[in-house]
Amino acid sequence: MGFCLFGNVAIAAKYALDHHGLKRVAIVDFDVHHGNGTQDLVHEDPRILFVSSHEMPLYPGTGDPSDTGDHDTVLNIALRQGTDGPSFRKIYEDVVFPRVEAFRPELLIVSAGFDAHRADPLAGLMLRTSDFAWVTGRLCDLADKHCAGRVVSALEGGYDLDALADSAAAHVKVLEERSR
Ligand SMILES: [Zn+2]
Repeated sequence: MGFCLFGNVAIAAKYALDHHGLKRVAIVDFDVHHGNGTQDLVHEDPRILFVSSHEMPLYPGTGDPSDTGDHDTVLNIALRQGTDGPSFRKIYEDVVFPRVEAFRPELLIVSAGFDAHRADPLAGLMLRTSDFAWVTGRLCDLADKHCAGRVVSALEGGYDLDALADSAAAHVKVLEERSR
């Protein structure tokens, strides 16, 4: 849609599969917008699990939960405007993490957008910085269990600069702590 020159996360997943001999890669996209570009690039590839949680309705309008990809390796989770941290955490515990677990990825790639923060001007979710730290830690748990700790994170959206800075720093802090 013009926001990205390259589909970085999709390219990374395919590179890992085609050049590093991995068999399964999972992408978790918690940016507040549907990861429509990523989905477009990976929905035909059964080696890639793509999970996107996003506010709906919201731009770009895609990402209905009925859209599950060509091989049922796409999981779209629609979050209502006003979804807060406790609700977000419950959905991730109940739906996202079990699905990633069942896929048993050998690499976990995170589309880390921070525009689901309550301060973000472009969307209406109510997450706090601590929720991003929490989801980062839980994703590291999964990476430790299935991927020998391999987790790659790519910065995506975030339009309140203070919230973006705080959230990105909290996210990286957890990644750094977990990499020791
Ligand atoms: Zn976004």
